[in-house]
Amino acid sequence: MKALEERILSEGKILPGPVLKVSSFLNHQIDPDLVMDLGAEIGRLFKDAGVTKILTIESSGIAIALAAGAALHVPVVFAKKHRTSNVSGAVYQTQVHSYTHNTDYTVVVESQFIKPDDKVLLVDDFLANGKALEGLIELVDQAGAKVVGAGIAIEKGFQDGGAALRERGLRIESLAVIDRMDENGITFR
Ligand code: 5GP
Repeated sequence: MKALEERILSEGKILPGPVLKVSSFLNHQIDPDLVMDLGAEIGRLFKDAGVTKILTIESSGIAIALAAGAALHVPVVFAKKHRTSNVSGAVYQTQVHSYTHNTDYTVVVESQFIKPDDKVLLVDDFLANGKALEGLIELVDQAGAKVVGAGIAIEKGFQDGGAALRERGLRIESLAVIDRMDENGITFR
């Protein structure tokens, strides 16, 4: 998506990792017009996939997931990163390795929110090595539901996650795919 690529070029900062910091429009301050457009585009791409539910991970995925949910008129569930007092009863849970923090954490969804007949669209802000998506797929598997695909805002195409998950048959639609980012700048696929 041209508008997303332009914002990445004008406001993105490259940190060691490599991590692309997009705090001015996606990860800290949020541009609602842009994010609603991202959601609308994800909705358009998956409009014929029979999506009944969207699943993301707190917290950065929530805004985009909400926008996609508004476009597709389906509920949005976010996996919680810790089992808090307001998560109760039967749960699905798994471990995810965090790319940005380099630690493992537990993600939890109450089982009442994903049913075996759900067709689940995964949504996240970034795709790097694919660990966040793998965790979400595991939660959907535990529920006996079906994953119909993943809608991603920014895929770092030079990392392995996208290729590995597509090889496993996952339909991934990324709105901006970065081929290269370094001291010379950022190029898109
Ligand atoms: P993965 O699990 O695919 O390795 O990484 C995806 C997750 O890590 C996303 O949920 C995102 O929050 C975070 N992430 C990975 N790479 C980046 C990055 O370059 N910038 C930001 N802001 N987050 C990233």
